[in-house]
Amino acid sequence: MDKPEGQLGSRTGLYRLHVDEDINVLVGCGLGGTSLINAGVSLRPDPRLFEEPCWPAALRAEGMTRLERGFSLAERMLGATPYPDTHPALPKLAALRKSAEALGRKFSKPPLAITFQDGVNEAGVTQKACNLCGDCCSGCNPGAKNTLLMNYLPDAKRHGAALHLRGRAFHRAGRGRPLAGALPGAGDGPRGLRGAHAVRQRGPGHPRGGHARLDGASSCAPRREG
Ligand SMILES: Cc1cc2nc3c(=O)[nH]c(=O)nc-3n(C[C@H](O)[C@H](O)[C@H](O)COP(=O)(O)OP(=O)(O)OC[C@H]3O[C@@H](n4cnc5c(N)ncnc54)[C@H](O)[C@@H]3O)c2cc1C
Repeated sequence: MDKPEGQLGSRTGLYRLHVDEDINVLVGCGLGGTSLINAGVSLRPDPRLFEEPCWPAALRAEGMTRLERGFSLAERMLGATPYPDTHPALPKLAALRKSAEALGRKFSKPPLAITFQDGVNEAGVTQKACNLCGDCCSGCNPGAKNTLLMNYLPDAKRHGAALHLRGRAFHRAGRGRPLAGALPGAGDGPRGLRGAHAVRQRGPGHPRGGHARLDGASSCAPRREG
């Protein structure tokens, strides 16, 4: 937990809670970020959202065409698909259907970033099918949840990005130039991190870290905890 007065607990715990005066934020700490602890529901936002005047005029003028293309690409990469009819019936889904019907609303199953069949995904990573354990938000151990660890990060690595683990970024140097960062507690002042991404990583061998596919090939910043 990060509080204004300091840090409580492990810096590399899967859940990181930032407690501030005006807002608290829960994020996933690990290679994959909050996708490691989210529910994986991959719904597109209502297009009316983008009609709000808070968006830049250029974006509103453009309409949804480019956004729609972005959503399609993301859905493909995230393997977004509704819970299959061929799988066991889920009591929660049945209850949601019933409540929608009672309210006279349309029921539909949302697309989920979950793999329901063993196979190789868009990023070339082999994934196991979901075993319905229900641990999506506490870290998917079978590797069936389509977290960023399973798709965008391996894809970025395949395209030349360097993944720096257990480091803390303090500022970003700008497009096309190295990312500069520093490791907390480094005795000899900030040490530069060079690469396209700096991401956090749970401890090696941690069951919920699931970084085996990337570990050997990643450049790993030395651990410095403040
Ligand atoms: C319980 C829960 C359930 C959710 N369910 C859904 C859902 O079903 N569908 C949905 O669409 N969204 C859901 N979300 C929201 C969604 O997961 C997030 O919006 C999304 O993951 C944010 O992605 P991001 O890349 O912006 O940030 P993150 O995924 O949070 O990535 C940021 C990463 O950077 C690290 N970091 C931060 N500062 C530094 C620094 N200085 N140096 C180094 N590393 C740093 C963080 O530790 C984190 O790992 C859920 C969120 C939570 C908490």
